[in-house]
Amino acid sequence: MRILVTGGAGFLGSHLCDRLIKEGNEVVCLDNFFTGRKLNIAHLLDHPNFEFVRHDIIDPFKYEVDQIYNLACPASPPHYQYNPIKTTKTSVMGAINCLGLAKRVKARVFQASTSEVYGDPAVHPQPESYWGNVNPIGKRSCYDEGKRCAETLFFDYHRENHVDIRVIRIFNTYGPRMHEADGRVVSNFIVQALRGEDITIYGDGQQTRSFCYVDDLIEGFVRFMNQSEIVGPMNLGNPGEFTMLQLAELTLKLVGGKSKIVHKPLPADDPKQRRPDITLARKVIKWEPTIPLEDGLKRTIAYFRTRV
Ligand code: NAD
Ligand code: UDP
Repeated sequence: MRILVTGGAGFLGSHLCDRLIKEGNEVVCLDNFFTGRKLNIAHLLDHPNFEFVRHDIIDPFKYEVDQIYNLACPASPPHYQYNPIKTTKTSVMGAINCLGLAKRVKARVFQASTSEVYGDPAVHPQPESYWGNVNPIGKRSCYDEGKRCAETLFFDYHRENHVDIRVIRIFNTYGPRMHEADGRVVSNFIVQALRGEDITIYGDGQQTRSFCYVDDLIEGFVRFMNQSEIVGPMNLGNPGEFTMLQLAELTLKLVGGKSKIVHKPLPADDPKQRRPDITLARKVIKWEPTIPLEDGLKRTIAYFRTRV
């Protein structure tokens, strides 16, 4: 197949490109390098089945493709809050452009949605049927509401125009190729520990997240994209749930060194708890994560040792 990956030079996008190329597909990788980088795809640039296009998805594009994976959007809170209006434009106009192309060339189109559509969830763990608890006017809203609107667009194009959609809600995923300055918690803690700097816990560290290793997630992407039973939304994530304090302690144990844990103010609207209900993924795509947090952290630490 010929497959378009938007956001293909980012953390998840570059792993997806690797997987699709490995399976013998032709890949068009589109990215504006806002948070992605050439380093992530450098090993693919000479591959005969790989093509890179520097482009911003808020502007329309046309490619003859069989499938589209839409991943273009900054995912880390400091990066998506850097230019919040642009973040909403990327989610909303990017979705319209992907869906318009999918309609035109009759491609199947995949949306990388997020657990952030559940906001600060009042239901725990979060099943796909939960409508969420999202502040529409806060600092996270550009991302959360942008992604919610993108889901709306995907389902309206599906109902109105019979576009063949697939919508995944991704829970916190980590691994090699996250940027050293990404700003999300796993890479922050590892980079701080490797540099011997203080480990910055926001708030009291009792808030929870569930961390999925990238290889598990990409396996789920490809399985979900290539089944025809449901269009989604489907949660993908690791149901193991940890406090940020536990994550900091585990990272320190694995990296070693002399870093101290310090506490910084909790950002506004920071969700207090998050854990995916993956009953649907288990049933439909027979998927569940295989890499425990400690193993995934060891692999990620090995990567960051080469970067820091
Ligand atoms: P990332 O920041 O590494 O990757 C995003 C990529 O999109 C980058 O390469 C960036 O340059 C590109 N991009 C951003 N705006 C663009 C634009 N306007 N035009 C073209 N390219 C643009 O983040 P990631 O973790 O790889 O996330 C990929 C996707 O998965 C995002 O849509 C994100 O919302 C979603 N997601 C990720 C997670 C996670 O835990 N990693 C969780 C939920 C959802
Ligand atoms: N966090 C932290 N220290 C950091 C970065 C993040 O304690 O250096 C916390 C953050 O407040 C949140 C959790 O870690 O409670 C996950 O943050 P991240 O930005 O990785 O993703 P989120 O799930 O909030 O989008």
